[in-house]
Amino acid sequence: AIPATGSLLDGLDPDQREAAGSGGGPLLIIAGPGTGKTRTLTHRIAHLVSERDIPPEQCLAITFTRRAAEEMAERLQALVPGHAAKLTIATFHSLGVRILREQHDRAGLSAGFGIANQARQLEILTGVTGDADRRALAEISRNRRTGTADELAQRYTKALRQQDLVDFDDLVALPVALLEAEPELAVLYRERYRWISVDEYQDVDEQQYRLLRLLAPASGNLTAIGDPDQAIYRFRGADVGFFLRFQEDFAPARTVQLTRNYRSNPHILGTALHAIAPGTLVPGRELRPYGEHGDALVGVHHAADDRAEASFVARTIDQLLGGASFHSLDSGRVDSDGTQGLGFSDFAVLYRTDRQARALLDAFAQAGLPVQKRSHDRLAERPGVEEIVAELAHPGEGTTVAERVRHAADAVLARGAEESVVRTAVDVLKPLARRCGDVAQFRTELAMGVEVDTWDPRADRVSLLTLHASKGLEFPVVFVVGCEDGLLPLRWPGAEPPDEELAEERRLLFVGITRAQRHLYLSHAAERGGRRARRSRFFADLGDEVERIGEAVPRARPRETQLRLL
Ligand code: ATP
Ligand code: MG
Repeated sequence: AIPATGSLLDGLDPDQREAAGSGGGPLLIIAGPGTGKTRTLTHRIAHLVSERDIPPEQCLAITFTRRAAEEMAERLQALVPGHAAKLTIATFHSLGVRILREQHDRAGLSAGFGIANQARQLEILTGVTGDADRRALAEISRNRRTGTADELAQRYTKALRQQDLVDFDDLVALPVALLEAEPELAVLYRERYRWISVDEYQDVDEQQYRLLRLLAPASGNLTAIGDPDQAIYRFRGADVGFFLRFQEDFAPARTVQLTRNYRSNPHILGTALHAIAPGTLVPGRELRPYGEHGDALVGVHHAADDRAEASFVARTIDQLLGGASFHSLDSGRVDSDGTQGLGFSDFAVLYRTDRQARALLDAFAQAGLPVQKRSHDRLAERPGVEEIVAELAHPGEGTTVAERVRHAADAVLARGAEESVVRTAVDVLKPLARRCGDVAQFRTELAMGVEVDTWDPRADRVSLLTLHASKGLEFPVVFVVGCEDGLLPLRWPGAEPPDEELAEERRLLFVGITRAQRHLYLSHAAERGGRRARRSRFFADLGDEVERIGEAVPRARPRETQLRLL
């Protein structure tokens, strides 16, 4: 029975509580941004282990990124400290590695099989074809994922295996093949993980879905949580059709909807709903604002060029931090709402392509604003890292992984490698080395594509990140920059994107807008990289809760002076 007071379900609203507190069986939660999906999932797990006596060893939570997994682990550590360490919180890929390590002999791999990074993949493909590039790799990856592996893909796979390697796609595809071929193994894992939940379900792909089906029986305790309108990984093979498949394959699935948005102010939410409306995959959905996040309209800023746009962002942040208010060009209204108590980490600047970060970084440096960019580079692909990892293969000094990595770096330096490159490589390896129990784990983690993600949600810095990387996050103040045709929606010059790509670009904008809690600014420039640019076609759909804004103005000044300044 659920305790009447002090329950882990107390911090949830009635719909969330129904979802989190429901017992076993398939459960599908389809809900919009900021409705507390991730919170509900986390509390559900905490509730299961501490109030329903489910053994934590039986609980598996699957998140989309390593970062999200770490965050969920932290939250659960705080909610149910006695149980958290025994839960399995994984990404599809780290779960796949675990299964393959345990079943390596049946998968035809050695106990210490390696995971090829992209450089290694290219080397292997070149060995097969005599010539290869990233595009060819991507093509092979697509073919293997959709199950249409051609001869080239087969030869590439064979060459990988000959070197006792798997690649990133294999991490899910091989466990699927293994569990399909050996049903008694699937039963073993089903018995181990009797309670499975998946966050960001809208972005699962075919192989991941097959793995879920193998791990959970049709009437199993599988919870899937997601929002079709936030599906942004179609290009990687994700397919929102898996919401329907869930209802067919896991019957009878109980479906719960969450309708209160706790994240954004009403105008931000209204603008988001307008922006997604022409392409929504959830027509007629109910989503109401519920939080206390002020009532600032959404600011739209038109800059002369990309540099002016970047300095608008930097200046605005600077001024908001100084308690400035905002001047609306449309209404003449000066908005002084809700900028009190903001710190650098409350601001995020989101963009479509990594290239846009340059102008922003320059502007921030000039303004003296501390900033952190969320990077997508794979750690293993950074210069110098590969040499250090190769050196680790030799028996060396040191007891902890961190010591061994330091000695390996010294050895690489002693052989005459460029000092700065090697130094930067250790620095980025250090945090990972400290986390790992042994060198084998260190190498696995590296190969699994640990990002040079020095991004720290708690650091007192402004965050720069791509729209894709912003998924699941929230910030009091958000800028979405580069809202121009060609960037958002992204397209190659002269080519009109196909409808389904346009729809995905629209969802990306929706994801960006819905990251904001108190203030949202959308900006576009008349000229970018020396070329004329046009504001995004999506602006036509934003509705009337937006206002054209100029500059922030210091609040201390009398109003007349403010107006004259403009
Ligand atoms: P996204 O679709 O962006 O991943 P989400 O649905 O997972 O969003 P959460 O991140 O779980 O939403 O929650 C959004 C915000 O609302 C968080 O700050 C969360 O703590 C808060 N929140 C959620 N539910 C409640 C609630 N019942 N009471 C108060 N705050 C809540
Ligand atoms: Mg979430």
